[in-house]
Amino acid sequence: MKLIRIGEPGREKPGVLWNSQIRLDVSSFVSDFNEDFFSSGGLSQLQGWLDQHAHLAPHASEGERLGPPIARPSKIICVGLNFRDHAAESKMAIPPEPVLFLKATSSLVGPNDPVIIPRGAQKLDWEVELAVVIAKKASYVAREEAPAFIAGFALHNDYSERSFQLERGGQWVKGKSADSFAPLGPFLATPEEIPNPRALTMWLKVNGQVRQKGTTANMIFGVSELVSYISQFMTLLPGDVISTGTPAGVGFGMQPPQYLQAGDIVELGIEGLGTSRQEVRAFENSYAAN
Ligand code: ZN
Repeated sequence: MKLIRIGEPGREKPGVLWNSQIRLDVSSFVSDFNEDFFSSGGLSQLQGWLDQHAHLAPHASEGERLGPPIARPSKIICVGLNFRDHAAESKMAIPPEPVLFLKATSSLVGPNDPVIIPRGAQKLDWEVELAVVIAKKASYVAREEAPAFIAGFALHNDYSERSFQLERGGQWVKGKSADSFAPLGPFLATPEEIPNPRALTMWLKVNGQVRQKGTTANMIFGVSELVSYISQFMTLLPGDVISTGTPAGVGFGMQPPQYLQAGDIVELGIEGLGTSRQEVRAFENSYAAN
């Protein structure tokens, strides 16, 4: 299944991308793709409902905005420096254990929403990443049990304001959390759609130029290992997001570094998880300024 959410920000309706192209409105069966939905076995119930009723479900309009494919989760946990080539371009050591940081859940937006340069920011950067969504409450999960705790996978751009992240002291959270910094989707693909999350090509372009081209095969810590590892430190709740790190090719690693400006167009994709597109906007022109 490919789950989508359709409609204006904060008013999205749940849907399914049927046969990879038709947008079905499933709001008559499920209220939203949130913690309740995942924890109550919603995924298998929805699959069963679709098997019976997909032909009756209303079609949503193609032109409507896509929201993030899940409702706002309790946590977005990011993994830093999880690709050797990205650690090298960042001039940081290969971490012996996963580096974790949190991204404010208020940064979550739809896959094609604009990204807003935060007030006072000058170093807005991109990071194509594979995001994992949690299916059920996970605490002290063993690595071999981890796949059962995964609801699916989605494309994510872990936008980063490098001056806030690296020049303002303390943790990375300041540079990762501004509004619009977590475009997720276009859809959440359930695990049977992505048989091997360690063999997906991933790419990102800025104004049509390829900046990142990598594969999840080069992740240092794999998906199961990360779910297990993170669950030793905190309880993962249904709907929580883990963003698994970015390959080389970010603006910060370029010589000289290159950052996004208002008007730039960022496009990205991961094999099997679709593509997304964000236009960069200045803070003063944004809805965030209101
Ligand atoms: Zn990242």
